[in-house]
Amino acid sequence: MTHAACEAAARAWLERLPAADLLAAHARTDLRLAIWIGAGALLVGTCLVLARVDLGGRLRRAAEAGGLRLWLASGLSAVVVATMLAAAKGFYDVLVAWPAEAVGGSLAERAATAAAGVWSAAVLALLFAPPLQWLLRGRPRAGPLLAGLAAIAVCLTAGWGPYAFGGDPALAPAPPGPVNDGLVRLIAETSVPAHGVWLSRDPSLEADVTGGFGRANVVVGPHTLDWPAADARAYVGHLMGHYAHADVFIVFLLYGLAAFAAVLAVQRWAAPLARSLGARQATIAADPEAAPAAALILIVALGVATLATTGYLRWANVRADAFSLDHAREPLGLASALERTWDHDSVDPNPIEAAIFYSHPPLSARLAQAMCWKTTLRN
Ligand SMILES: [Zn+2]
Repeated sequence: MTHAACEAAARAWLERLPAADLLAAHARTDLRLAIWIGAGALLVGTCLVLARVDLGGRLRRAAEAGGLRLWLASGLSAVVVATMLAAAKGFYDVLVAWPAEAVGGSLAERAATAAAGVWSAAVLALLFAPPLQWLLRGRPRAGPLLAGLAAIAVCLTAGWGPYAFGGDPALAPAPPGPVNDGLVRLIAETSVPAHGVWLSRDPSLEADVTGGFGRANVVVGPHTLDWPAADARAYVGHLMGHYAHADVFIVFLLYGLAAFAAVLAVQRWAAPLARSLGARQATIAADPEAAPAAALILIVALGVATLATTGYLRWANVRADAFSLDHAREPLGLASALERTWDHDSVDPNPIEAAIFYSHPPLSARLAQAMCWKTTLRN
């Protein structure tokens, strides 16, 4: 079986989807990329302007005139920069991004959502910036390491914790039927440490496999009980692949490591970057004058973290599909489940779109993987 033959079989699956939907998905993904680039340019540009006009220096002088301490001026500077960035992004979302992406709601409703985002950015800056600046100022060597380790701990606790320790103990077992029978067999076939299949109360959930430390919860949504058993087995097999490979843990660890690297980068480069952008009084990263440059570094770090985690996930999702194929052995069920759960992103994006937005390989590639597995097995 050649690769071309797999792709031909995958194309036959794609042809089952309405051509108009495929075109609309392609256009939507192109638009998302344009909006993403616009938002990035706006945020970077705002940081450059704030550094150029030396917002931090102005705040320091105003604070000193009012008898405020340096650490208060630094914290204030970080909060003002975060609020201005969030406000710029909020305007952009309300006026450009959300109308173009046809996000529902009146202008007033969209503005209220954006305002809530500005408010939470200010609160987050207020909570995290003063302790970080205090550490960078008072403990220039150990401070960044302590802050980085704390960032990893926060990412794992807030992100992976609910996945590993969550699970609603009040759920009822899934009712008997072909889907339940198929999944109970799948649990035995994969050796995933789950005991039975549970029924979610969330009608929008297709299925979920969560847990950690030798315990797994397999949950299906009410509508999934009406799927063909092969589709449900293939879909849950994919989720079991993520469980077996600890992918959720790894993703949140990657976020924590990215935050660690960002703190080190801020400590090392925020002050020189601020000086080169026009804020000449910046001497260390914790100075008020360095806040716009520190924000710029954090924005770039967030972009890099996004590329790293989506890149890892695209690779991990090939592995999760392979786990499903090898254990559930339902290639047609997998292709059918992929079509059912298609998110209406382009099935064939360009490499930049794939790198930024695609946590799973594009639909065409996933269908080809399933069809190649099927034909290789048959030959
Ligand atoms: Zn996945």
